[in-house]
Order: sequence, then structure tokens, then C-alpha cells
Amino acid sequence: MTSSSLFQTYNRSELTFERGEGVWLIAADGRRYLDCASGIAVCGLGHAHPKLVAALQSQAEKLWHVSNVYQIKEQEDLAQLLTNNSFADRVFFTNSGTEATEGAIKTARRYHYANGDSGRVDIITFEGAFHGRTLAALAAGGQEKYLEGFGPVAGGFKQVPFGDLTALEAAIDENTAAVMLEPIQGESGIKPFKLEQLRQIRQLCDEKGVLLIFDEIQCGIGRTGKLFAHEWAGVTPDVMAIAKGIGGGFPVGAFLATEDVAKAMIAGTHGTTFGGNLLAMAVGKAVLEQILEDGFLEEVQAKGLLLKQKLARLTDLYPQVFEELRGEGLMLGLKCKAPAADVLNAMREEGLLPVPAGENVLRFMPPMTISNDEIDQLIECAEKAAQRVETAQTAPAR
Ligand SMILES: *Cc1c(COP(=O)(O)O)cnc(C)c1O
Repeated sequence: MTSSSLFQTYNRSELTFERGEGVWLIAADGRRYLDCASGIAVCGLGHAHPKLVAALQSQAEKLWHVSNVYQIKEQEDLAQLLTNNSFADRVFFTNSGTEATEGAIKTARRYHYANGDSGRVDIITFEGAFHGRTLAALAAGGQEKYLEGFGPVAGGFKQVPFGDLTALEAAIDENTAAVMLEPIQGESGIKPFKLEQLRQIRQLCDEKGVLLIFDEIQCGIGRTGKLFAHEWAGVTPDVMAIAKGIGGGFPVGAFLATEDVAKAMIAGTHGTTFGGNLLAMAVGKAVLEQILEDGFLEEVQAKGLLLKQKLARLTDLYPQVFEELRGEGLMLGLKCKAPAADVLNAMREEGLLPVPAGENVLRFMPPMTISNDEIDQLIECAEKAAQRVETAQTAPAR
């Protein structure tokens, strides 16, 4: 048994960090690592961003928390910023992603209930989905390895193969409340839906009277070069879950909906103690204001393209190590040919910190504030890591 007092639910690396500066994480021994994951798409503006630090400090001196039984102007402000820049009319703030997907599911069911169609409870998801770790979110994700040993699987969820619209159409029936999907699946290994598919799914939902929920917890908040990934497809959902990037490292989540849908969630139907906490709202607002500044998202697109081109070149140069590059903007997945764990170790030795995902993929989701120069450094280190892996592969077996 380790001497740790923590639950041993993570296979943690030995690395430990003391400070962050922009895209850099500084380890306890002083070594600087280039953060290629942003705490899994959380610290989109990098570490210790002066505007976020200032927002947190100034709110900390005023007021931290009041109950949601009172008017909270800071919540109103952030909600308005979100609705002004999205399809949504209403926002409910949570602390985490999984609470946001739970809230989205509840909202979709309640909408049909309010319309006298209380039989519509089923949520249809796609294989590979990840929507969080609460019991309903796990049922939505449908991953056997996460459900095992946790008792009865929450009812009301169905799953169809990834991207299979024929199966989706066949699965929709009079009990279907909503289709829920990540426009770009994150945990399964950076798997984007085709934009045309997103449009077809929207149309199918409209034809069948079914709601569409987008889980943009990982792909949203600027990461793809648009504020929300679904904007690339030119369609909007009825309900959306966000989290991760909106807090820039402070825990914030939210579910958003159109007025027509949100109005089913009348007083008393949902609540939270911490959700919409003032510190969270202050930071969330600072994050969003920064991302919405003129030119910011265009920069993310340009940097995403640059990183993509350079990683694609490595994929061509080291076919024994890498297999395929996929994703959009600064949400990239490098599918490895060599075991991803080996490539990850080599990357860490070279000072890079990508995070693994399904399908033998390493995710590259650096802070959106990464400079072109830092992209060059990233690529230089990634190439050295690839050479390490290649050398180890060709070394004669002993
Ligand atoms: C991370 C994630 C979640 C869960 O968010 P938590 O904050 O860990 O609860 C849900 N959906 C997607 C797409 C995610 O990436």
C-alpha cells in the first residue's frame, strides 16, 4: 500500500508541479514543461494569466459566496455574456461538467413532460461518448469499464455506433427525449463528427420532435477556433453543456438552453449550493471576455493550423511512431502507431505534457495563448521524442 491518504483511483505519474507561467508548468525540481493539455482543456488561457488572477483577487476581497436564494449580479453578467454569444436564452451554473450534462438531461426530459409528453425520457448517445461520472452521465456514456460494479445502470439511455445516422434514425421512437453528443468526442480519442452529419442530426431531431443536446465541455470555449465547436457546422442545439475551459482553472460548468426548453424548468425543479459561486463567476467572465476580444479566435485558428501542419509533418516522417492526426483548432489528437504510453513517456522526457485518450491517441490541447515560437519548441521536442521511440523500437532485443 502506498503511504498516500488519497483514494487510489488514478494511475498518477511521479511528476509534481509548483508553479505555472503561461504555457509552462514548473516542476518541483525546477524543470520547465510545455503544457500540451491545459489540465484537459481547462486552462485555455494558460497558467497565472494576469487578468484571471486580478479578477479572482478582486472578487476575493469583496464576497465569495451567497446562496442562490438571492439575486446574484455576477451570475447575471456571465449568463448574459453567454447568451449574447450563443443560441441560448437561459443559463444554469454548475461546478463541474458532469453536473452540467445531468442538468442538460433533466432539462430535456422536463421539456417533454411540460408539453404533456412524459413518455419521452430516452437519451440517445453515440459509442465512445463521455459525459461525466455521475450515475446518469455514466449511463449516457455507456462505457462498460466505468459502469462495472456500480449497481443498476440508470435507465433511459440508448446508444448507437459513432456517426451511424441510419442506426440513429432507427433508434428514435416515441420514447426519445433527446440526442446527446460531443461535436468532437474528447475522451474517445478526438473524434469529430462530420459537419454534414451534425446538420443531418439536427434535421432528424426536428423531424421527430426530439431535442438535440451538445456536450461542449471539452470542445467548447474557443478550443476549435470558434467559441463553440458546433458553430463550424452552422447548426445549434436546444441544450448545451459546458465546463472545463469556461473557468480557466476555476471550477465552473453550466447548461444552457433556448427559452422554449428552459421554461420547463420552473422554480424548485433544480438547484445547487455552490453553482454560480461569485469567485467562479468573476473568473468565468474574465475568461470569456478575453476569448471574445477582437481577433482572439482568429489567432486560435491560425495557431491550430500551424500546429496541425507541423504535427502532420511529424506523422509523415515517423510512420513507425505516429499513425494519424485529427481534430480542429487547438484540439488535436495524434493517433500513435507505437504504444501511446511509450510515446507519452518519451514526450515527458523531452519536456512535453500531452494527455492520452482512447484509441491509442495523445491529445494536444495546449493553452490557446501559445505563441508561434512555443509551437516551434513543442514540435522540436515532439520530434526528439519520436526519435527516442523509433530508436527504442529498432534497438536489437536483448
Ligand atoms: C470532462 C468532460 C465531462 C465531465 O466533466 P467533469 O468536470 O469532469 O465532471 C463531460 N463531458 C465531456 C465531453 C468532457 O470532456
